[in-house]
Amino acid sequence: MIRGGIGKGVKPQILVSGMAGLLCLMGLLGVQRHAIISSVYQGPQPVIASTPYAGSGLSPKNRVEAVDCSLTPCLALTFDDGPNPVTTPQILDILEAYDARATFFVIGSRVPGHEALLQRMFQDGFEIGNHSWSHPDLTKLSSVQVRQQVEQTQTAVINAGVPAPRLFRPPYGAVNPMVKSQIPLTLVMWNVDPEDWQTPDVSQIIAKVEAQAKPGGMVVMHDIHAQTAQALPTILDNLEDRFQLVTVSDLFNLAPGQRGEYFGR
Ligand code: ZN
Repeated sequence: MIRGGIGKGVKPQILVSGMAGLLCLMGLLGVQRHAIISSVYQGPQPVIASTPYAGSGLSPKNRVEAVDCSLTPCLALTFDDGPNPVTTPQILDILEAYDARATFFVIGSRVPGHEALLQRMFQDGFEIGNHSWSHPDLTKLSSVQVRQQVEQTQTAVINAGVPAPRLFRPPYGAVNPMVKSQIPLTLVMWNVDPEDWQTPDVSQIIAKVEAQAKPGGMVVMHDIHAQTAQALPTILDNLEDRFQLVTVSDLFNLAPGQRGEYFGR
């Protein structure tokens, strides 16, 4: 317990002189001190719900124990472009049958009307990320438009009754310095891509995940295609013995609002 900050037996004057020494040292290291201060992020602040979530009374059930992906071989499955009223529930059912966790990067404009699906994702322990409002190439937009793409989706997810996303996946993975400066969330890319969106060939999707999967990997798929749902049971059969299947935040042990761009561990 921390109470008043002064431990038993530590005299206040010793503490003061210690602090003075620290300040003096910081003065001597003026350049570094400046560097630390200037690295504090000055741009838009993320809309992040406090933990535990108190917005709608919903809370995740069946939470698995925390996993340390620096010690355990982990893999993060991610699903983009939903929610879809047909294929997203199929994919959720399959993941749950395998007790696998995953992250869903939703398109904001697809959320209204599918609030119950987002609530199910959240309650069942899946992570929900932001995949823009209408899936444009953000590098072709103005900074104001980029911010709108992010914020409208944050609002849509909050309005669905679940916590605001902490993660953002740019459509097409397209970013530039302007885009990055406008997104106050953790940027999440991928390093395993079975290109499920462009082939109806289920065996090809399965084979590509199998060939590329490695500890710390992040797989991008799409929960809007029938072939993805069809491939998923075999993908999970192949992965479940070798990897702990985790959310993106668990894979990187992300703190809320942590900045950076992540491809895999
Ligand atoms: Zn997408």
